[in-house]
Amino acid sequence: MILLGSTGSIGVNTLEVAKKFSISVEALVAGNNIDLLNSQIKEHNPKIVVIANKEDVYRVEHPHVFYGQEAILDVIKNSSSELVVNALVGFLGLRPTLTALECKKRVALANKESLVACGAFIDTTKIQPIDSEHFGLWYLMQNRPVEKMIITASGGAFRDWELERLQHATLADTQNHPNWSMGQKITIDSATMVNKIFELLEARWLFGEGCYDAIIETKSLIHALIDFKDGSTTAHFAHASMQLPIAFALDGKMQENILPHVDLLKVGSLEFREITTDRYPIWQIKDELLKNPSRGVVVNAANEAAIEKFISGKIGFMEIAKTIIQSYEKFDALPKSVDDVFALDEEVRRSIR
Ligand code: NDP
Repeated sequence: MILLGSTGSIGVNTLEVAKKFSISVEALVAGNNIDLLNSQIKEHNPKIVVIANKEDVYRVEHPHVFYGQEAILDVIKNSSSELVVNALVGFLGLRPTLTALECKKRVALANKESLVACGAFIDTTKIQPIDSEHFGLWYLMQNRPVEKMIITASGGAFRDWELERLQHATLADTQNHPNWSMGQKITIDSATMVNKIFELLEARWLFGEGCYDAIIETKSLIHALIDFKDGSTTAHFAHASMQLPIAFALDGKMQENILPHVDLLKVGSLEFREITTDRYPIWQIKDELLKNPSRGVVVNAANEAAIEKFISGKIGFMEIAKTIIQSYEKFDALPKSVDDVFALDEEVRRSIR
């Protein structure tokens, strides 16, 4: 396989699963964490390596090192691997997803921004998502009439904060996720609930038109539920580990033990909460967005630009959602092609910057 984003939270987990299934690694793509990359090179012996910046090339302990976004696309085009795992973060991951699909590769997609921004122009039958919620929905799906598909949220770092304190939340505060550790951007997205908006959009592209919603389940042991027309509801329980969706995306057979079962007697009780717009203002646009999922490109671009401003201290935490909603109201055109998606992305970012 080719692994994009090998040094990230998903990338590291993916290499562990690859080792378990003896999948060889043709290429590793990483950003700035050269020390971790060097140890991955030693262990997995890739033929080729790509990093983000030219000035780090001399630090990489490999004879074939390239850098920059074009190099990522070239590696995909020239590779013999059938599988591309895309664990890059952000809109940066979209071109590699499109290129891998053009090259008829199978794509294991953690980079949710690809589908959020460009789902209308991506053939999802060639994609296996790496996400617990979509894995859970897929696991529950049967040949019975479905009324509603529900995914769960942890509620993020601020689910128990007094509402007045949210205005003053810092970047460090956003990273205190209650249930697990992930990359910086998705942990911010979890605190704003943008991550769940993204997952609903992904679900819409993967499973088609239908009724989708999300609720908070504080222990993150249930990842998805399906309400069937007959009044039955089924739920997917699993420990909160990305190894299960990754294993399925890499191997597809699900015959080996990946995680221990959830012991309900030890769990004792579960708590569910509604996602409210006072704590998570982004939820205001959820229903309209699900009716017009192509507008995801605006939400994604505005989110990334607002997060940049938040990280550099130019706006406060609650202004992230405000900025996204303002852009959503301002940019209401629907992209009609992949080129439109890139143009609209650029326009939204420019207006916010
Ligand atoms: P991380 O921030 O931990 O990892 C991102 C990876 O992308 C790192 O390897 C990073 O390199 C690399 N990268 C960043 N910029 C560049 C660049 N310019 N060129 C090459 N490589 C680059 O993110 P996560 O692993 O948490 O998330 C990855 C994707 O998966 C996101 O889209 C996220 O939404 C999604 N996802 C994550 C989950 C999780 O549990 N973490 C769950 C479900 C989905 P480096 O670190 O070396 O700079």
